[in-house]
Amino acid sequence: MYFLGIDFGTSGARACVIDAAGTIVAEDARDFGELAEHERAGIWREALWDLVATLPAPIRTQLSDIALDGTSGTVLACDEELSPRHPPLLYNDDRAVDEAALIARTATPGHPAAAVTSGLAKMLWLKKRLGLTGARLYLNQADWLSGLLTGRVGMSDYHNALKLGLDLDTLKWPAWVEYLADIDYLPVPIAPGARLATVSRPRARYLGVYPGCMVHAGTTDSIAAFLAAGVSGSGDAVTSLGSTLVLKLLSDTRVESVEHGVYSHWFGDRWLAGGASNAGGAVLRQFFDDRQLAVLSERIDPAVASPLDYVPLPKAGERFPVNDPALAPRLVPRPADDAEFLHGLLESLARIETRGYRLLAELGATPVRRIETAGGGAQNPAWMRIRQRLLGIPVARATHTQAAYGAALLARDGLQTFASPATRGQGL
Ligand code: ADP
Repeated sequence: MYFLGIDFGTSGARACVIDAAGTIVAEDARDFGELAEHERAGIWREALWDLVATLPAPIRTQLSDIALDGTSGTVLACDEELSPRHPPLLYNDDRAVDEAALIARTATPGHPAAAVTSGLAKMLWLKKRLGLTGARLYLNQADWLSGLLTGRVGMSDYHNALKLGLDLDTLKWPAWVEYLADIDYLPVPIAPGARLATVSRPRARYLGVYPGCMVHAGTTDSIAAFLAAGVSGSGDAVTSLGSTLVLKLLSDTRVESVEHGVYSHWFGDRWLAGGASNAGGAVLRQFFDDRQLAVLSERIDPAVASPLDYVPLPKAGERFPVNDPALAPRLVPRPADDAEFLHGLLESLARIETRGYRLLAELGATPVRRIETAGGGAQNPAWMRIRQRLLGIPVARATHTQAAYGAALLARDGLQTFASPATRGQGL
């Protein structure tokens, strides 16, 4: 039997099939290219059908479970047949300014749904334009795609539902969401990994997949990437060294801090706490290409601390671990030797990461005890050793970092993904 994970990112979709042991048996990808607003939903749907229907037949006919992840905060307004009534609003669409202000006045203070890019703000924005009869259901990207497979509509996983206003204490829509947005228009929140339904019969026939194939509630793309790294103990973390520096930590306690952009996601009997700095690999790219980064890094002695203390921001403004909207980048003095300069940059980024994990602990999260690394920076052994020296805990490169692989693990493990090591195997 095989397990399929499908990741819908910003620029394309990827499929990953694993066997019961977690070995990848098939992978594929589709790039969306430059899409006009009105083309998005149609291209996403085509990519979904295409990624499944072109899997090798011996795999397709033995698929037992599927899970999907999508970009968090990408919202579709649809009718009951899942036909979009408006082009999808993407994760970074920030037009819902008035709606976000209204949510901020009404919501539990600090709820992530009050952000201008939240799913709830987008839903209210769409509802205002479409009117009462315009759409029957507002869904996140992953909810919509899973619905296309099952033919059953109207459910959303707790991870994607957070930005639609989910109350993490009750795992239901709170009264203020009911007040702002008629909950009849919102999907029913359920646990990520929970069984949704089998692939609909006509769909299974059309795609050539095993008709009993179960579709599970999905997750967001960044949580799927966290799952891919395969960490499972409290205090285990994944640092993503991509264009930005993102920290995600499995914690026994829930932590939140609006001004630091720190919030926690549901993770069974634990929490996935996270924070994102504006600093990161984007600054390295301002000075060096990837080849230069690799070559120069070989000349760095990671055992020696660099005396250079930079603020490696791409532009003014930092949120996490220091909240200072006016914090200016500082990238001087620049030594004549580029390897020395890079050493200073990497060391400064590692200091931000160290401070970030310290802040999460200060806010009450389980202290970090080991870190897996993802993103473009994970391929840099010198940076790994600098981080290890500053963090003082084991730092490794994650074997798997693709969100599609994480979604495949979610398909395989279902709700077991969110059981703590102590409760795992007790039928949760
Ligand atoms: P994104 O967040 O855009 O998906 P990626 O995970 O693809 O980012 O990582 C891209 C980043 O990785 C770039 O900003 C680049 O500076 C950084 N990077 C690539 N190679 C190296 C390297 N050898 N050392 C440090 N950083 C690197």
